[in-house]
Amino acid sequence: MKSGPWLASAAAIALAGAAFAQTPPVAPPKDQALGREILKQLVETDTTHAHGSTAAAQEIAQRALAAGFAPEDVKVIAPPQYPARGNVIIRYRGTGDAKPILYLCHLDVVEARKEDWTYDPFKLTEADGWLYGRGTIDMKGQDAAVLESLLRLKAEGFKPNRDIIFAFTADEEAGGSLPGYSEGIDYLLKNDRPLIDAELVINPDAGGGEIKNGRKLDMLVQTSEKMFLTFQLETRDRGGHSSMPTPANPIYRMSRALAKLGDYQFPLNLTTTMKAYFAGRALLESGQVAADMREASTGILSPGALQRLSNQVETNVDLRTTCVATTIDGGQGESALPERVKALVQCRVIPGESPADIQRQIVKVIGDPAIQISVYTNAKVSPESPLTPKVMDAVRGVSDGMWPKLPILPNMSAGASDSAYTRMAGMPSYGVDGIFTDVDDDRAHGRDERVSIEGFNEELEFTYRLMKRLGEES
Ligand SMILES: [Zn+2]
Repeated sequence: MKSGPWLASAAAIALAGAAFAQTPPVAPPKDQALGREILKQLVETDTTHAHGSTAAAQEIAQRALAAGFAPEDVKVIAPPQYPARGNVIIRYRGTGDAKPILYLCHLDVVEARKEDWTYDPFKLTEADGWLYGRGTIDMKGQDAAVLESLLRLKAEGFKPNRDIIFAFTADEEAGGSLPGYSEGIDYLLKNDRPLIDAELVINPDAGGGEIKNGRKLDMLVQTSEKMFLTFQLETRDRGGHSSMPTPANPIYRMSRALAKLGDYQFPLNLTTTMKAYFAGRALLESGQVAADMREASTGILSPGALQRLSNQVETNVDLRTTCVATTIDGGQGESALPERVKALVQCRVIPGESPADIQRQIVKVIGDPAIQISVYTNAKVSPESPLTPKVMDAVRGVSDGMWPKLPILPNMSAGASDSAYTRMAGMPSYGVDGIFTDVDDDRAHGRDERVSIEGFNEELEFTYRLMKRLGEES
């Protein structure tokens, strides 16, 4: 494929090592201080699911009002039946020359137990150049950077050429479907769409920089996500005494079915995003791996390259839909022939493929009508967002100003984010973030979650520069 201008050349990447030796620009001291203060406040406001996000939404609203935003442009919204699942929307008014952009950020965090952590997860603790606390990288660090940047632009009197809308939302981590929760973005799209309607969405919950062995590797821009889709497989028999075995044993039947599925590979399906990703990744690799990735960037793979890339778990998931058995449950007693076996098969589906077609493939591969196959968790069908130059060039430009020639790689993530909802609603959505995570030590959702002080100060500057740039371009 032809690479866009945002894709650095191999020669440029070779020079990048030297360029990184210079210290990247960071936010001015007063903005670093404000960013840190906001981060501390957000981390110390417990937004796990037991507590909800309304208190944090109100804190953000107060800061926006204190900075001079009009009350009609700052709205705290919670579903009437779930007052603790609050969201806050801030509208930064522009000249209206272009359509609005939406920044989408979630306020909730996953649970953290004090006894598992070195420091209290709900206190922001500075130690050895790091800031520890639940949410520092997922995603209160990003929330703080987005809020600080918009306050910084407001204080400078910046007038964007479009409205920039900010939605800080509830229950992203809950997945939306559990009773007692309210997926904030889903609620807002259904009930308050005009408040958040935008030409495109920036979601700092995905994308971001990658570090390996202390060196900045690349920056991902997430344009798509694999769809989550689960099937239940079930088979029954009349049972009997274990002294009288029959060939109809459901445990054997299910075992054969799952073994066939385990051996099956779904067809190669390289999306536009993943072709561009492999074009960029090839420049960071060498030898056979680089050659195979260059082939992948064309969308057509020779049998050898397909085999090699499929043999690696990390690249296999980029090439195709995958389905894997995750639970099995069956039989009713030590000396009884089993009457029933159930299994769950979890699929991660390439955007654009149809869940019904995945089911048809599974039925065909298993080839046993005695195995009933039904949908257990339905897919949220979200399309891939196009690699629009407006976003890719802005990220390239801002990144070059901070980390010269850092490769920018479009990316499809295997996990899910709130961008699935905005993409389904017809708003192209991009996971973009300036925090770098160590590929060998990712602590999102884990113990001792942390962001480096230096990295957080760079994130403040990156977020500010990108927001400003998107507010200047048409
Ligand atoms: Zn998150």
